[in-house]
Amino acid sequence: MMVIETTKPEETFELGRKMGLQAVPGQIICLEGDLGVGKTVFTQGFAKGLGITGPVNSPTFTILQQYEEGRLPLYHFDVYRIGDISEMDEIGYEDCFFGEGVTLIEWPQLIEEILPEHVTRVLIEKDLEKGFDYRRICVEERI
Ligand code: ADP
Ligand code: MG
Repeated sequence: MMVIETTKPEETFELGRKMGLQAVPGQIICLEGDLGVGKTVFTQGFAKGLGITGPVNSPTFTILQQYEEGRLPLYHFDVYRIGDISEMDEIGYEDCFFGEGVTLIEWPQLIEEILPEHVTRVLIEKDLEKGFDYRRICVEERI
C-alpha cells in the first residue's frame, strides 16, 4: 500500500496523471471517499495522463462517461445515483470492466457485488485538523 498526502487539488490531479501514464489495459480503479474529497479531480488528472484533452466531469446523471481519444479507452463510472444494480447491466458494464480500456469507478461500494476481485483501490480522506485542502490518499493493489 502507498500513502500520499496532498495539500491542494493540483497535487491530487498530479497523482492521477502519473497513474494515468502507468495505466494498463483492463485495469479497474475504485475511487472511494466522501462527497467532495477529490475523486473527480483525481479522474481528471488520470484522463490527462492517458492523453485525453477534452473536459472530464462527474457523469452523475449518466453513470458512465466514455473517452476514446487517449492512449487507452477510459470508462468513468460515477454510480452515486444508481437505483438498482441491473442498471449496470443495461449500461453494458462488462464490456468496460473486462475490455481493453481502463475503468475508474466513483462510489464503488454501491456496486460491490459486481466488482472483480483484482482492482486498484484508491481511498481519499480529509483530515480537517491538517487543513481544509489536506487529503490522505491510500493506493492499494488488490492482487
Ligand atoms: P468528488 O468527486 O470526490 O465528489 P470533486 O473532485 O468533485 O470531489 O471535488 C473536490 C473538491 O475539493 C474540488 O472543489 C477541489 O478543488 C477541492 N480540493 C481541495 N483540496 C483538494 C485536494 N488536496 N485534492 C483534491 N481536491 C481538493
Ligand atoms: Mg465526483
